[in-house]
Amino acid sequence: MKSLILTGLVSCLALSLSGCAGEDKRPNVLLISIDQLRADHLSCYGYARPTSPALDRLAGEGVLFEQHMSSSSWTLPGHASLFTSVPDSIHGAFDTQMKIGEGQTTLAEHFQRAGYATAGFFSGPYMHPAFGMGQGFELYENCTSYKQRLDGAAVESWAMDKDVMRASHEDITNPIVYSAFQKWFGSREKKPFFAFLHLWDAHYDFIPPPPFDKQFDPDYTGPVTGRGFFSDPEIRADMPERDKQHLLALYDGEIAWTDSYLAKIRADLEAAGLLENTVIVVTSDHGTEFFEHGDKGHRKTLYDEVVHIPLVIRYPAALPQKQRVSAQTRSIDVGPTLLELAGIAPPPDIMGVSLLALARDPQANHPKRAVMELTSVGRNMRAVRSLQWKLIDDASAGKGYWFDLVTDKGELKPLSDFASEQGQKLENAYVGEVRKMEAHLAQFPPQHENSNVPKDVNRALSEFGYTGGDEPQKQAAPPPK
Ligand SMILES: [Zn+2]
Repeated sequence: MKSLILTGLVSCLALSLSGCAGEDKRPNVLLISIDQLRADHLSCYGYARPTSPALDRLAGEGVLFEQHMSSSSWTLPGHASLFTSVPDSIHGAFDTQMKIGEGQTTLAEHFQRAGYATAGFFSGPYMHPAFGMGQGFELYENCTSYKQRLDGAAVESWAMDKDVMRASHEDITNPIVYSAFQKWFGSREKKPFFAFLHLWDAHYDFIPPPPFDKQFDPDYTGPVTGRGFFSDPEIRADMPERDKQHLLALYDGEIAWTDSYLAKIRADLEAAGLLENTVIVVTSDHGTEFFEHGDKGHRKTLYDEVVHIPLVIRYPAALPQKQRVSAQTRSIDVGPTLLELAGIAPPPDIMGVSLLALARDPQANHPKRAVMELTSVGRNMRAVRSLQWKLIDDASAGKGYWFDLVTDKGELKPLSDFASEQGQKLENAYVGEVRKMEAHLAQFPPQHENSNVPKDVNRALSEFGYTGGDEPQKQAAPPPK
């Protein structure tokens, strides 16, 4: 009997390999990241303007996570966490000269090893394979219009180059990404796929094409064009309110334009008969600031306007429809969710937790705290956030403070009485999260020297008066070699 079963299995395998057997029924997975997309500018997240009809439709057919947090406030670490399911301190790609370690396994590699076809299409400089982002993709296509400047050149020559940054801000890539995706989609191997689309154009500059340029503020006649958002000194906190409002309208126009590509992609899947057997995920890497805390852009702070991002997952075959989850979730949770939906065992060396239980029952248990980090361009800070509280340990400014997000949603009234009961509770929670990351590194030794919990942050922790758990002056143990 046993031998018969084995013979049968071998035959099935042989048939399957030769393509004669039944089709591989595992779902396709399409992961779409819309760069710099603030959750609070999407209609399905409660925004007053209709910026996201296609995403709203996907959310209506799937699950929307209301409180989804990035690991950081800029492209490189935000996507590296999405790809590796660990926080920035662990994947190590938290600054411009750093990359995901080759010894680390990315989401694309997990799908590739499981026999999936893998393809990625990116459209911003920090998604370049020089940063390890291409690991696991059989095809990883550079869809920027200045790719000659990046491909083949030493990353040090362009990673902080002003001309490259300007070219990226002015670049228009939605049509390039979409056309590259379509080309691959039409000629791909007929087996389950994991595809990643990085849509860049909601990122500044804010120069949507007609009719999206006038969709939300058609009567404006002032000087703001949406160009030079980052570099133009006239775009500042004290600029006229009317001009500021127009900037927001142009950002919303970029979102609506990018959203229109979600509709095209959905239609392509439907036309190919693949809509119901494809997990569609839409998320982002960070938001951007429009002077909520006095500044513009991102990669500067860890306030909600730069870390609160959308997450929508559509897959009616295994997930409820019209589901909204109010529990807090993290970008590191996306990878294990997608692997579980594809029937691939979760790797042991990740810190994210699958969201399937929450998707099916919004009251299900899930880690209550999210960690966000920013260690780049002179900033060195970490935040730990729950639904009600956010503690920011700002080592670069030498101080720590927290916010009650229920009574102070805009994070405008920092609190810092660490001797109070609440202050102590939050410090303990913060230290608990730091210890978890240190323990993870001890269990899974880092693949390269960048992986460590930055010591300066721990030093700041003691300087602002931490008195729980460990001795206040004690620094964290160095990362294992
Ligand atoms: Zn980004």
